[in-house]
Amino acid sequence: MTNRQPKDRSGSGENFISVKTSEGCSSVVLVCEHASDFFPAEFGTLGLDEAVRKNHVAWDPGALSVAEHMAALLDATLVAGQVSRLIYDCNRPPDAPDAMPQRSEIFEIPGNADLNEAERSKRVDAVYTPFKTSLQTAIARVSSPIIVTIHSFTPVYNGASRSVEIGVLHDTDTRLADAMLTLAPRYTQADVQRNQPYGPQNGVTHTLKEHAIKAGHLNVMLEIRNDLIQSAEQQKQMSEMLAPWVAEACVQAGAEGVVQCKA
Ligand SMILES: [Zn+2]
Repeated sequence: MTNRQPKDRSGSGENFISVKTSEGCSSVVLVCEHASDFFPAEFGTLGLDEAVRKNHVAWDPGALSVAEHMAALLDATLVAGQVSRLIYDCNRPPDAPDAMPQRSEIFEIPGNADLNEAERSKRVDAVYTPFKTSLQTAIARVSSPIIVTIHSFTPVYNGASRSVEIGVLHDTDTRLADAMLTLAPRYTQADVQRNQPYGPQNGVTHTLKEHAIKAGHLNVMLEIRNDLIQSAEQQKQMSEMLAPWVAEACVQAGAEGVVQCKA
């Protein structure tokens, strides 16, 4: 795997968020909440050994690289988290039990057991609040914003294999997801499914609801099976497939803003 952590650490707040602003005027804002497996010293390792800290429960392997390539192709701003989601999951509101999960898939997270209010607030202030502010700022910069979040998922979860290869996820606003699903056969032979392997019932649409649906912006969440984006070449090819697919879907969904794609 490459690009575990964003190269640009000059983000806002406590430097736990990376924002790469596009030079152009694209309406697309890409988001990668689970980009990093970084555990800052001030929060420690949560009692986890290195194997668990590199495991998919700690981050979305490959997702950041795909998002970075897509940002370049779409001339889009990218907002990415820079700490492990086990410290704080930026795709969850502070009151969600799994914002700082005590258990993730098959792993207990000792450092998240019995967190007191002060400890929870410290993580919210250090990670979630700057993430939220950075994303709000990025969205406010563009006209007619379109929010696209990039994630990866494990091919085997709780011992069960998953056949879905690309998930197109949505909450109550289905416009962009519908367009992507309609166009899917033109862009990929992959097994593409709606609201798989997760959906709104799993609490995964927080960013979409908070930053897009409330304001009426077009939005979609993309989940890529992580065995398909292990190498740098696979990550590049995936982004070169996804970027024009997203761009055409935006147009088909009636996007009013600017959607650029160099792929
Ligand atoms: Zn994710």
